[in-house]
Amino acid sequence: MQEIIARMLAELGEDPSREGLRDTPKRVEKALRFLTSGYTADVDAVLNNALFTVDYNEMVIVKDIDYYSLCEHHLLPFFGKVHIAYIPNGKVIGLSKIPRLVDVFARRLQIQERMTNEIAETIREKIRPLGVAVVCEGTHLCMAMRGVEKQNSFAITSAMLGAFQSDARTRMEFLELIKRADVGPLRRSLLRAEHDFVETPDAFG
Ligand SMILES: [Zn+2]
Repeated sequence: MQEIIARMLAELGEDPSREGLRDTPKRVEKALRFLTSGYTADVDAVLNNALFTVDYNEMVIVKDIDYYSLCEHHLLPFFGKVHIAYIPNGKVIGLSKIPRLVDVFARRLQIQERMTNEIAETIREKIRPLGVAVVCEGTHLCMAMRGVEKQNSFAITSAMLGAFQSDARTRMEFLELIKRADVGPLRRSLLRAEHDFVETPDAFG
């Protein structure tokens, strides 16, 4: 991989042998391996020993989980916060494991919509809750850095499964609770959006 990165630097008009770039291929490879380590992560190993049987069926919410991902169209970062809720049906996930679960899907080449769905589907599959909701907000550098319509560099995606899909009151309860977080743009958008609000930045090739 380092050879390819050195070649890319030359293609960009750089001199890969100059002092500042000498170790860049090595660093870039290391960074990319880390940022895509979700491909080799094992969801079951991540959740190992952290699925608990409980007699609790109130909504569990974990909000403001930071994530960093790479858009698959430009290999540039998109990042922001994920808010997750589920209603247990006999099983819960240890709270500390939920951000790690987010990392499994964020550390890949992604689109925000798919990442949102993958997180929701995995929680559904692993603990069969009565419902799962995932709302993800992201700033996309591939849009922001090019100055393409600044407002389009921010996107909100959501996945609502089970009770969150079928029951408007449950969904609203979740949206109300995450609105209280200190997430300005999300708060404004949620005022306009009841559910399944998806605002995708236009791809630009
Ligand atoms: Zn992109």
